[in-house]
Amino acid sequence: MRVKQFKAESKRLLELMINSIYSNREIFLRELISNASDAIDKLYYRSLSEGITGLRREDFYIRLDVDKEARTLTITDNGCGMSKEELESNLGTIAKSGTLQFKEGMEQKEDIDIIGQFGVGFYSAFMVSEAVAVVSRAFGSDEAWRWESKGVEGYTIEPAEKDGHGTTVILKIRKDSDDEDYSQYLDKYRLRSIVKKYSDYIRYPILMDFEKTVPKEGAEGEYDTVTETETVNSMVPLWKRNKNELSDEDYHSFYKDKFFDYEKPLRVIHSSGEGAATYNALLFIPGRAPLNYYSREYEKGLQLYASGVLIMEKCPDLLPDHFSFVRGLVDSQDLSLNISREMLQQDRRLKIIAQRIEKKIKSELALMLEKERETYEKFYKNFGLQLKYGLYSDFGIHKETLRDLILFYSSTEKKMVTLSEYVGRMKEGQKFIYYACGDSVDKIDKLPQTEVVRDKGYEILYCTDDIDEFALRMLHEYDGKEFKSVSAGDIGIETSDEDKKQAEESKDLLDAMTAALDGKVKAVRLSERLKTHPVCIISEGALSLEMEKVLSSMPNAPENGVKAERILEINKSHPVFPVLAGLHKEDPEKLKEYTKLLYTQALLIEGMPIEDPVEFTNAVCKLMAEAKGR
Ligand code: ADP
Repeated sequence: MRVKQFKAESKRLLELMINSIYSNREIFLRELISNASDAIDKLYYRSLSEGITGLRREDFYIRLDVDKEARTLTITDNGCGMSKEELESNLGTIAKSGTLQFKEGMEQKEDIDIIGQFGVGFYSAFMVSEAVAVVSRAFGSDEAWRWESKGVEGYTIEPAEKDGHGTTVILKIRKDSDDEDYSQYLDKYRLRSIVKKYSDYIRYPILMDFEKTVPKEGAEGEYDTVTETETVNSMVPLWKRNKNELSDEDYHSFYKDKFFDYEKPLRVIHSSGEGAATYNALLFIPGRAPLNYYSREYEKGLQLYASGVLIMEKCPDLLPDHFSFVRGLVDSQDLSLNISREMLQQDRRLKIIAQRIEKKIKSELALMLEKERETYEKFYKNFGLQLKYGLYSDFGIHKETLRDLILFYSSTEKKMVTLSEYVGRMKEGQKFIYYACGDSVDKIDKLPQTEVVRDKGYEILYCTDDIDEFALRMLHEYDGKEFKSVSAGDIGIETSDEDKKQAEESKDLLDAMTAALDGKVKAVRLSERLKTHPVCIISEGALSLEMEKVLSSMPNAPENGVKAERILEINKSHPVFPVLAGLHKEDPEKLKEYTKLLYTQALLIEGMPIEDPVEFTNAVCKLMAEAKGR
């Protein structure tokens, strides 16, 4: 018989499984049972939506059988089964190959992560088996096929005999080795406890035969051995169970198993609703963001069940974008089993459920922020960005929901703070909520524009993400206090009469400098915000420099399209100022040169691109040479 090759990635995964040093091998059973349950779900759902008669819910089952002599463990289901083609494509390749991006030269120790991170599914059987056979007959077909593999060399497929539809997976359990006891997977009591641990909630009976000794009828003191079939799992889905019957461990292992995460969730939200819509919801806030979370590939959504039957794997309408990180499921008896996607979108009750879920998530997050600050900050590291996008998107209609959930790093507290905390400690006479933008906390710490605001003892919120300033501007105010960038034209700090006078007197100089910059800035001004630094650049009007930076780095930004209105500010107390004033009278050409230098320096501080770095460095060197000549 021809041995067929596995697809490259599958082969790699298979190698991992075979050579795995993973300590949690027992999960293979969970994976195979969960495949069996999915196969029954599929068939049952089809029978309901296509009106197939003769399939009753109570006739579905999953069975475990052990043959100790032959060292086989068999998992049987009467689900949808697989055709020859399906056997080849489902078991010859990995369904989730997209998520499994193998890195070149991956080390053995990383195997554990891979196994824990993804639902590795069927291939996990090879962690405990030296050979695996799958005999399957697709529903509605009268042929059965046998797929068999001993590992990476490949697999064979041949016609087989099988009564009824469904799948039988036969594992030839490995021989015990010095450090592995594989025989435990041939022990029924051990298997039963593994089922209880991982698969208790499976909604179809998992059957096992147990031998029992019973008193022999009519014969005192003698016993008979009888075989009794036991349903090993409780079959009640987790979300239908009473909260106080469930432990964190129950929720966590359910989450990890169902949503392929190796980290436990930060929060479990188990809730239900009645009235306008009846539902049970089991929601999880993940402990980390999936690798593709902030990309287009990420699909939000909750699993949707209608009366316990899975009708949609990812229902996007149940989650608003700003909470797209939430994983979980909703089960409602109000929804019809064969509702189409289009009808679902229109469904009034689904909308009500979605609204309630949004409220619930918000209140749980608020509670976490209040009671478990550290956990919240961990959450915020992962998903805070999404909340801020949410504030900005849809013209700010989610403000109410989100404004109390966002955090910023604070200049005075040196940690993440809420807007309400900020407003609560605003200084007397402070009109605005100040913020400063930059690439990192370190960089903002050094930003000249923040000097006076700091000096006044005012707190500054640090905006280090591109979206931050857009979000704050959309928010406009918090508790009646407007947001103000430390780089805004008017920062709301009183100017003294003397300053005003000096500005008058320097008008000619400033005009000459403005002219020297030839339209690059709207004006050159004396600064009221600088104390020790010589220059800075600020912006007036609707667009800030940070926003200009963000907008012009977007993929389809128009060339020279978005420009902030720039103002160059000079510190009149800096030693360079009298030099400028002197040049204005004695050497206007040099004043031009120096002005350009100062402007370029201000751009550098701001992290803006400079027009001609070569010209700039040449000018600096010229200065150095002149200084030496003096
Ligand atoms: P996953 O279940 O995560 O998709 P698996 O590697 O476990 O990945 O299984 C691959 C595919 O093989 C499944 O998606 C399913 O289509 C099919 N399959 C596995 N086990 C069964 C089964 N018992 N009955 C029917 N189809 C199955």
